[in-house]
Amino acid sequence: MSKSAVSDSKCAEYMERYMEGVTKRNPGEPEFHQAVYEVASSIFPYIKDKPAYHKNQILERMAEPERVIYFRVPWTDDAGNVRTNRGFRVQFSSAIGPYKGGIRFHPSVNLSILKFLGYEQTFKNSLTGLPMGGAKGGANFNPKGKSDNEVMRFCQSFITELYRHIGEDTDVPAGDIGVGGREIGYMFGQYKRITNRFVGVLTGKGLEFGGSQMRTEATGYGAIFFLRNMLKQHSDTIEGKRILISGAGNVATHAAEKVLQLGGTPLTLSDSGGFIHCSDGLTQEQIDWVKELKGVRRGRISEAAEEFSNITFHEKGRPWGVEGDCAVPSATQNEINGEEAAALIKNGVKAVAEAANMPCEQAAVDAFTEAGVLFGPAKAVNAGGVGVSGLEMSQNSGRISWAPERLRELLENMMRDIHDSCVQYGKTDGGPTNYLAGANIAGFVKVADAMLSYGHV
Ligand code: NDP
Repeated sequence: MSKSAVSDSKCAEYMERYMEGVTKRNPGEPEFHQAVYEVASSIFPYIKDKPAYHKNQILERMAEPERVIYFRVPWTDDAGNVRTNRGFRVQFSSAIGPYKGGIRFHPSVNLSILKFLGYEQTFKNSLTGLPMGGAKGGANFNPKGKSDNEVMRFCQSFITELYRHIGEDTDVPAGDIGVGGREIGYMFGQYKRITNRFVGVLTGKGLEFGGSQMRTEATGYGAIFFLRNMLKQHSDTIEGKRILISGAGNVATHAAEKVLQLGGTPLTLSDSGGFIHCSDGLTQEQIDWVKELKGVRRGRISEAAEEFSNITFHEKGRPWGVEGDCAVPSATQNEINGEEAAALIKNGVKAVAEAANMPCEQAAVDAFTEAGVLFGPAKAVNAGGVGVSGLEMSQNSGRISWAPERLRELLENMMRDIHDSCVQYGKTDGGPTNYLAGANIAGFVKVADAMLSYGHV
């Protein structure tokens, strides 16, 4: 097939037929359809003159998880009642390494959300340059309002089933929403007890038992390194920029901290109850207070307005109507819709960096792209988290631990390399870099070429 053999209209036709197939084969899974569409819309134009990918059904095979594990998680609450939740592990792709991806505990967890996350994870892990496949798991368990003992019993029951499907060379889960150091500790303890093996089967562990320095900070810090690289690529800087951040968990608080360290001004944070706004810019003391509030006391972000006189709380709202120069959504999927994107654009936003997974609806992505706003997609922006998880795996295999300075440098270099790969594949004629296409194509090529080498497996 020559370069011009497949016209743009033919390409659009293939894409439409492909999405029809994906939608039909995966009914009732809108988040998964959205994630596949987002990737396929960059990949179809790229592969239109590369027949090997078509002939070997690479995109079709990539949209089918290698394995889905679906299980019952029974546990007992403090009042002695038996409770039952649903557990999952979606092992999406092991083309370039063992399955790797987080575990999410949240009432919204279902197969569609975990398939979207596992699919995205495959490309993200490829972008890090490390040998890691893609996976995601979790349960529709709500840790909010549960005692430590209830969370411990739930984690033990969850891993008592999952342990047989994971391993240091097979599948290495990590944390995600609702799964932090406490939950990883409980799961690792139970895994070790059942198997009688002390191996790097989970990442995000405590520093005392095989965890890596910088893992806690990696996603938020990495996201801001990526934002700084995007601005630098377009002759701008983060210094003096007013940054809108959503979320108040691990990713959001570390993103806010790195913004401050690099001379920017973090204006907002949020949780599922609403957002806080500090027009003076949040200080390190205030960020530390929020870390303690959400991570230890497990309180509500509204309490920040009672504690600090220069902070206001906006119930139920999201921060996208506040005037700022950059937005870093860091809470959850689909938290910026088309209207909110329009408000950000009207207020002059210059760059959006997706620190959460798929926080922008398709309408928002389209609006940013059309308006020439720099748009960093999640699979590139938040890859620092899994990148340092990969380095935790390396340290565990070698039974060594590296100093924080070394890991900080490795993270910064990794984010620079990811940025540069996006630029390599996302160049446009005179316009801003198309980071979305760049990240999708750079992530795709490595996985696709490995699949071609393996034959039809
Ligand atoms: P946390 O559980 O630490 O924090 C999540 C935050 O988002 C909380 O403030 C939570 O509020 C808020 N939130 C959750 N759901 C909603 C909702 N529906 N509406 C509004 N706010 C909501 O999670 P992380 O910080 O670890 O993860 C945040 C995002 O980053 C997720 O998309 C995750 O997949 C992604 N990510 C995380 C990585 C990591 O290393 N942790 C790595 C790569 C991506 P509340 O307390 O009220 O629930």
